[in-house]
Amino acid sequence: MTDKKKVNVGTEAVWAGEKEYLVHGATQVPVVLSVAYNYDDMDEWYDVAIGKKKGHIYGRNTNPTVQAFEDKVKQLEGAEAATSFSTGMAAISNTLSTFLLPGDRIVSIKDTYGGTNKIFTEFLPRQQVEVTLCETGDHEQIEKEVNKGCKILYLESPTNPTVKITDLKKMAEVGKRAGAIVIVDNTFGTPINQNPLALGADLVIHSATKFLGGHADALGGVVCGPEDYVEQIYHFREINGATMDPMAAYLTLRGMKTLHLRVREQSFNAMQLAKFLQQQDIVEEVFYPGLTTHPNHDIAKEQMKDFGGMLSFSVKGGVDTVRELLPKLQYAHRAANLGAVETTVGPARTTSHVECTPEERAAMGIPEGLIRVSCGIEYIDDILEDFAQAFAHIENSLEIS
Ligand SMILES: *Cc1c(COP(=O)(O)O)cnc(C)c1O
Repeated sequence: MTDKKKVNVGTEAVWAGEKEYLVHGATQVPVVLSVAYNYDDMDEWYDVAIGKKKGHIYGRNTNPTVQAFEDKVKQLEGAEAATSFSTGMAAISNTLSTFLLPGDRIVSIKDTYGGTNKIFTEFLPRQQVEVTLCETGDHEQIEKEVNKGCKILYLESPTNPTVKITDLKKMAEVGKRAGAIVIVDNTFGTPINQNPLALGADLVIHSATKFLGGHADALGGVVCGPEDYVEQIYHFREINGATMDPMAAYLTLRGMKTLHLRVREQSFNAMQLAKFLQQQDIVEEVFYPGLTTHPNHDIAKEQMKDFGGMLSFSVKGGVDTVRELLPKLQYAHRAANLGAVETTVGPARTTSHVECTPEERAAMGIPEGLIRVSCGIEYIDDILEDFAQAFAHIENSLEIS
């Protein structure tokens, strides 16, 4: 925890982590593209190199613009320290590789992000790490598996794309009691709606590419937590090289100044769209933690300030309907991204779970006719009208049984 007085998160989003990096009276953090840093004093250079004195040596290790970004996220998550990465997947893989050794065991859930799931099923097993994936939301099974002993308990809530909810406070307690490092991917939660560290997690991870940046123009990842853990993760990353680019750090830093406004609007839009979708004949099921029909709505309400901008829904007629429907939307990108200011839609089979076979997706409870929606910040009436006209078009052109 920081020893500073806790400032409102919206104010933090605008101001946190910037002051120290301003130069020449500029009001904005500079983009420092320099790869290396000059030292006329050999002793000072040495002191910085061994970490005795603050400063920068080489861009793979640290960079002022990148550090300003890390400082801002760190304060928003109420963490002691943060370190960043070239992508969200780099943050996840480097963090896991920092702690997991052959013979170790990790417990997680079946519904993690598609890339994370690939690490669990493809890469960790061949490094002799035992992976146990529990039913998402089955808290008893998670507890049982954790109690058998594990190095890491890895969670994500809400999940991608069916926005399942795990009780983070309860599971963090279970993990800590069993001596595990509890890691939470908070990409969907965002530091505005959810703070896993305050709920008891050890480390929180973000794909900064998504909501933090918010404009789909920069890749990045970040991990926050206690100094000693983050120091180890930083060391792994500085040597292995998945460093965040200074320009990406700047764009993300700039994006984060409106994080609270965007997430507030996206959460509002998602709630309105979810309710609207529930009333459509062509829609089979709507997945959104803000709906009282969501199986873990109560947990979401307890641990989140708002329910976020992500939802998904399945349509009658499966892939055929999806193929017809999505091109009819005027105010939506049909793209693999999420968390941006524009509404973005895509089928799970081509976005979050493209790496999986149809059988694997079915086993995860992901219908082939599932559409993931990342709500943007457009005016909600226009979004609802847009979906309404697309549905009207489909109902006229398709024979729905
Ligand atoms: C996108 C995403 C990631 C991976 O982030 P990249 O920046 O694309 O590498 C990890 N977790 C979640 C929940 C995501 O949505």
